[in-house]
Amino acid sequence: MASPAAASAAMSAAGGPDEAFLAEVRAFLDVALTPDLRLAGRRTLGVHSEIGACRLWHRRLFERGWIAPAWPTAWGGTGWSARQRFLFDRECALNDAPVLFAGGLRSLGPLLIEAGTPLQQQRYLPAILSGEDLWCQGFSEPGAGSDLAAIATRAERRGEHYVVNGSKIWTTGAHLSNRMFAIVRTADGEKRQQGLTFLLIDMDSPGLTVVPIIGLDGEHEFNQVFFDEVRVPVASRVGDENDGWSIAKRLMQLARSNNTPAALVRRVLRRTAEAIAAAGDELEPELRARLAGLEIELMAFEQLELAALPTGRPRAGEQTAPSMLKLVGSELHQKVAELALEVAGPQAIAPLSAIGLAGEAIDDGARVVAKHFVVRAATVYSGSSETQRNVIARSLLAG
Ligand SMILES: Cc1cc2nc3c(=O)[nH]c(=O)nc-3n(C[C@H](O)[C@H](O)[C@H](O)COP(=O)(O)OP(=O)(O)OC[C@H]3O[C@@H](n4cnc5c(N)ncnc54)[C@H](O)[C@@H]3O)c2cc1C
Repeated sequence: MASPAAASAAMSAAGGPDEAFLAEVRAFLDVALTPDLRLAGRRTLGVHSEIGACRLWHRRLFERGWIAPAWPTAWGGTGWSARQRFLFDRECALNDAPVLFAGGLRSLGPLLIEAGTPLQQQRYLPAILSGEDLWCQGFSEPGAGSDLAAIATRAERRGEHYVVNGSKIWTTGAHLSNRMFAIVRTADGEKRQQGLTFLLIDMDSPGLTVVPIIGLDGEHEFNQVFFDEVRVPVASRVGDENDGWSIAKRLMQLARSNNTPAALVRRVLRRTAEAIAAAGDELEPELRARLAGLEIELMAFEQLELAALPTGRPRAGEQTAPSMLKLVGSELHQKVAELALEVAGPQAIAPLSAIGLAGEAIDDGARVVAKHFVVRAATVYSGSSETQRNVIARSLLAG
């Protein structure tokens, strides 16, 4: 297994013209990624790093003009090619940059650029870029997960407001966010998908309550959010009333295409390679062979990522590429986390109380177990693997 420096060098040697770009990125990371930020990046277990480090890293990238590489330049993007964006993400992973809390950057921002009103774009996009606004996603409900059209949270139009009642569940980072994008039921259409509307909701709205849910890893990442007569201005609706399904589907395409990027898997593979190197001759040779196999799978996934989304964003209506990337990326992520667990061996028999301290100074064994639990969820959130297979099958059979 190559060291980070060797892996970086191999990548740039493969693409000579990338050298100047990589030199610029590395010079920035050398200074901007202070030891505390690298430590937070290394300790990341969940879908984002510790929130203080996220905010600081977000700020540094924003000040450098590199916070939203995939956005159009008119809205603050970098103008980089897909390959440059890939190299940048990879370099961040190899240098333990914190993983951002990025629902606004990765899903809502690109959606508003396509489908928001000018007023929504001016109000929300700059605050997503600067990190002032953090967005959570209010889609799932106790009775609506894979079957999202079963949404029952209702919004009734009263003058220039919608009044929302009901609840959302598994809302990642609702306790950290000041805004939520959500789909709610505004009508009972002939088809269940027809009566949904996409709203932007302030988390400090009167009547909105966030209740924590503690995960299997002992961490507080997601929540249940209750709405009791919550008033949302009609101007905060994206798209037409009762057309929220098509808006939500587009957002999911944008989100899935960057949900488990290769760079995220590379972080875990790197940790595993370090553990294997540290174990020396005591380790079963079969585990080394599996590491080599997973490195090859990851390299293939990196190429898939580059080939499937040459512009970095799926075309509207494009179903297969985002689902394929989500499916392959999340399942590979799990395979790597499973190998890490086997490499840790008896060290991975950690008490749950130790895992509960996941963000702090826990030992490597507990960390590997906590990571394993967290990565189990990767094939569930943002649409389960079965859902992705259904989407791919439907689109292939229709074509
Ligand atoms: C860590 C984590 C974070 C999350 N964050 C958010 C968030 O921020 N916002 C949000 O809105 N939601 C969030 N979710 C919820 C997530 O989107 C749902 O868990 C997911 O859509 C699955 O829904 P469900 O949990 O109700 O499972 P179910 O839909 O009940 O599915 C249970 C099982 O049945 C399978 N299944 C269901 N239907 C079919 C079918 N038609 N064909 C074949 N198999 C099927 C599924 O694949 C799954 O294996 C999060 C979930 C997790 C685990």
